This record gives sequence, C-alpha cells and structure tokens, in this order.
Amino acid sequence: MSRIIYVNGRYQPYAEAKVHVEDRGYQFADGVYEAIAAVKGQLVDEERHLDRLDRSLRELRMAQPMERAPLMLVMREVIRRNGVRNGYVYLQVTRGVARRDHVFPLHARPGLVIFARSKKPTPQAVLDRGIAVVSVPDIRWKRRDIKSLSLLPNVLAKQAAKEQGAFEAWLVDDEGFVTEGSATNAWIITGDGELVTRDASNAILNGVTRRAVLELAAEQGLRLVERAFTLEEAKAAREAFITSTTNHILPVTRLDGGAIGDGKPGETTKRLRALYLDAIGLGV
Ligand code: PMP
Repeated sequence: MSRIIYVNGRYQPYAEAKVHVEDRGYQFADGVYEAIAAVKGQLVDEERHLDRLDRSLRELRMAQPMERAPLMLVMREVIRRNGVRNGYVYLQVTRGVARRDHVFPLHARPGLVIFARSKKPTPQAVLDRGIAVVSVPDIRWKRRDIKSLSLLPNVLAKQAAKEQGAFEAWLVDDEGFVTEGSATNAWIITGDGELVTRDASNAILNGVTRRAVLELAAEQGLRLVERAFTLEEAKAAREAFITSTTNHILPVTRLDGGAIGDGKPGETTKRLRALYLDAIGLGV
C-alpha cells in the first residue's frame, strides 16, 4: 500500500488523500497518467515517460501541473516516503476542479496525484508456464496513443480475461488485427522468425517498454517488423509475449485456449526478457 500520496501540492497520509468530487478526472475521465517502474529506488526510462506525459497533455490541450525538474523531485520524494525499492510510481494529471460542464474550464488548475507502490517480482512458476491471453473486440476510441484516464474498455477486457482464467486480453480491431493488450503491448515471433509488434500510430499506446525492447531486439540483430498482425497469425505464431512497465516482458503460451508454438515460453522471448531485466538493473 502507498502510505503517503502526493495530492495537489501536499504529501498526505493514504487515508486522507482526497480530491474534490468535481475534479474533471472523476466526472469526465478528463485527464492522463503515467506509470513508471522503480528499480532499486531508481526510475526506469523516466525521460521517455515524461515526454509521453507531455505529449498526452499537449494532445488534450491540458496544462502542465509543474515543470519537469520539480516533478522529478516529487516522484523521488514519494518513492522515498513510501520506502519503495522495486515497484512503480503512478502519476495522474487532470484538467482540475470546476463546476460540471463539458467545455474546458477557464480557471481550473491542473490536478496532480502521485503515489508509489512496491511490486513483487513475477513468480518463477508464471515465467516457466507463460501466461494465457484471450481475444476481445477493441471497442475503444480512436486516440489510443494518448494515455488517457478513460480506461473502461480496458477494464472490461481485463475482467473478461480474468473470468476466462487468462492474465491479459488482446484487443482485436474491426479488420481482425490485434492492436495491443488491455494494459500491455502485444508481440509475436512468426514461424519464419520475424519479430512483429504493431506499428506506433493512433491505434495503440506506444509503450515505453515496447520501445526499449525494439532497441534491444535491433541490437541483437533480430528481424524486426513493426506492423499489424491478425489474431489468426498470432495463433499460428512460434512465440508470443507482452510488454509493459510493470510486467516487463512476459511470455504468452496460450491464446484463446490454444497453445502458442509448443506451449512453452519461447527461447527468443526468454532471451529478450533476460536482456531487458539486465538493462533496467533487475538482472540476476
Ligand atoms: N498499452 C496500454 C493500453 C497500456 O495501458 C500500457 C501500460 N501503460 C501499455 C500498452 C504498455 O506501455 P508501457 O510499456 O509504457 O508501460
């Protein structure tokens, strides 16, 4: 649990951390967020996350809650006050508190909430087995590149996955192509050894982990293609995995009840995971 949460300029005990009911995040999901991994108390890929935050704010014509340097200080302070070593920092910005009206308020100050949580490493049994994924239709809006607070379709997708005994849901667009997971990016390795993940566009969130793994894969000389792949192609893939800030890289071994490849985590997936953990300081 986060013991101390930063709320609009104050470090507050968890039980007292509150925002107004007319915060536009609450009424309209009018806000954006970031989750940044902490490893040994250090933030992973912090600049990229903050660049993405700036972009999300810009796209929604929202004001910066504070400059980058003090924001970085506050995040460190939240980590420190919560004694987090390995985990993540969650940061959320809303368009602020104003009398309910769809149009932008004239005088609201952006709302800023930051908390930090520890996260246990993924159990070895899960890594050995790999995770199950189920597909669901992607019913989201057309600006998935913005890390918006509006996550209802993602929530429904993840719940559907859970109810089917799966860890993640892969969202499938109207043309039958996988966009991404409910909270992760989706990857496959095809029968002829191509590493494929969907190209960055308005159709997906351009994951910070996605970009780091693309760079690692390029260094490894893997054959990389950023393009859309169909659900059928994924089912026939040799390997599959997901990436995200909090899960790093997790092998996918079942998709809609069928095995991916031989049903075991793939060799390339395992290698990429080890390299990525090494790169962020979690290597063994
Ligand atoms: N797609 C979606 C929809 C997400 O919510 C996330 C997690 N923030 C990701 C992809 C992965 O992004 P990242 O690697 O930056 O955590």
